Amino acid sequence: MTRYVQPVPTPEDPYTGDRLLRSWLRRQLGQDGHAAAQGPLTDLAADVTGPLRAAHADAEAHPPTLVRYDPWGARVDRVDTSAGWQAQRAAAARHAVVALPYLESARGTWGAATRVVQHALLHLYGPESATFSCPVAMADGAAALLSLPEVDAGVRDAWLPRLTSTDPDTAIVSGQWMTESQGGSDLSRSTTTARPAADGSWRLTGDKWFCSAADAPMAVALARPEGAGRGSRVLAPFLVPRYAADSPLAGAAAADTPAPGVTVHRLKDKLGTRALPTAEIGLRDAYALPLGDPAVAGLVRAMTLVVVTRVHNACAAAGGMRRGLAYARAYADARAVAGGRLADNPLHRATLGALAVDAAAAFALAGHAFALLGRVEVGADPDAAAELRVVAPLAKLATGRLAVGSASEYVECFGGAGYVEDTGVPRLLRDAQVLPIWEGTTNVLALDVLRAVTREDAGVPLLRRLAAAVDLARPLSPALADTLAAVTGELTTALADVTADPRAADVVAGARGLALRLAAALACALLVEHAAWGDEQAEVAARLWARRRLRHEDISGDAHQHLDLLC
Ligand SMILES: Cc1cc2nc3c(=O)[nH]c(=O)nc-3n(C[C@H](O)[C@H](O)[C@H](O)COP(=O)(O)OP(=O)(O)OC[C@H]3O[C@@H](n4cnc5c(N)ncnc54)[C@H](O)[C@@H]3O)c2cc1C
Repeated sequence: MTRYVQPVPTPEDPYTGDRLLRSWLRRQLGQDGHAAAQGPLTDLAADVTGPLRAAHADAEAHPPTLVRYDPWGARVDRVDTSAGWQAQRAAAARHAVVALPYLESARGTWGAATRVVQHALLHLYGPESATFSCPVAMADGAAALLSLPEVDAGVRDAWLPRLTSTDPDTAIVSGQWMTESQGGSDLSRSTTTARPAADGSWRLTGDKWFCSAADAPMAVALARPEGAGRGSRVLAPFLVPRYAADSPLAGAAAADTPAPGVTVHRLKDKLGTRALPTAEIGLRDAYALPLGDPAVAGLVRAMTLVVVTRVHNACAAAGGMRRGLAYARAYADARAVAGGRLADNPLHRATLGALAVDAAAAFALAGHAFALLGRVEVGADPDAAAELRVVAPLAKLATGRLAVGSASEYVECFGGAGYVEDTGVPRLLRDAQVLPIWEGTTNVLALDVLRAVTREDAGVPLLRRLAAAVDLARPLSPALADTLAAVTGELTTALADVTADPRAADVVAGARGLALRLAAALACALLVEHAAWGDEQAEVAARLWARRRLRHEDISGDAHQHLDLLC
């Protein structure tokens, strides 16, 4: 008897196989803009399906290690990473996944839509980057912060070109040292202090509890300037050089040893993101450069970075969902059950179809957030800024939750093989679970949304978009328009109610439900907009999303029937 060997599932090319991505780009960039993006996207997709997929596996199989001492007893605190991790780092630079929105040439081609192109690059790059997408997000956030006019030009000129370099030999990424052991969500409890030195630099002292990209040459650290008082608003962002090479206090220390006063206590042993070095870091009078005037309350400045990392998080969630779908479909094509192909089984098709609907909605949320960010950065569009205020936390929280639920389903789609390490499938689930945690848990972001809609009128642009989508939906599907109209009415009332007494216990308790409902309605509106432009896939996705997530109906019949269109 011959032994059965399962054919290897081969997922489609992540760019040419993703019709929604391509039609989204055509709409957002126009024919010429999309044509200009095709070369970089095709190149990246080829790298992803070739060397980067191998680098991803290598980085996962060889997690980082911390070397505390050299052979002679000197403290070195060196974080060693794998060849795969280094390959991901080089590819991120080469494909400009951080740099693109800062390049004059790119802005000249795509203007405000440069962020749309960057989103597409990240959508391709992230899912099999061994979570190098995390340092990429933090580097982009740091670059956005350094680009603020209130940041000293000397500091900007020294560091921004390194963050936005496309040369792997000179490009760097950044860490982000905010969370302390006593509180990540509650930054008001931060105890890291900053004191000014005579030369205009500062010295930071404290302990940071979660520092990802612990091997990065710089980090943005939050600290409480001497005499600034209590609370979180006064915390200020500082740039901390991680290595002796960039610290004027280092004297003759070897360039690749930690900057004086920077100690790596240990690396975290984490559920997922295993290739990503996440450390606990101690600071003792560490050299730091202020990003803006520390005398001016700095949390608002730091939020520039946080908004960027939140929209990256949404992209990572949506990109991972799409890639999980591609793998699960490929497996269904290659697997036989009940006398036929799994891919032809109506029940399995319905499962995949529902996942495809969720993936489309997550993609629309992330894509919209990037488009708004671009309009804020290029042209300082005030409407986009008002909408982004609420869309960034909404997109982050909704896609994070969708990604975890979807990842669990993708693992199940592979049966037992999905639970076995060397298939590469289990990490889909492990790596998804971080998405609703870092950069704000679901509840913390829901409270941020509540603040935005009650104190900053951020619900207004959202309701306007929903109302406009009702009109766009009417010719496509009266039932869809009716659903969206009903939900828009319900949300209008809900926002008025919460604004009347935002601190009421019931309002706070309901913040997560409200935020998820707002995000679900927004996703529907965004799919309707794309459908109204002429995309059939978005039309089906909008109808099924509305039924599944707004009316909580079973969509299995339609999902199985429309699977091919939805993927
Ligand atoms: C893999 C990984 C990498 C990370 N990398 C970094 C990094 O590079 N830099 C960095 O600074 N941080 C990083 N973090 C930390 C992360 O940002 C924090 O863990 C996160 O913000 C939550 O903070 P916490 O751990 O203190 O949890 P807590 O804030 O203690 O939250 C515990 C629970 O309380 C809930 N909660 C908290 N406040 C409220 C509230 N007001 N109302 C209702 N519920 C609330 C939360 O939703 C959560 O369920 C990383 C975390 C992980 C898992």
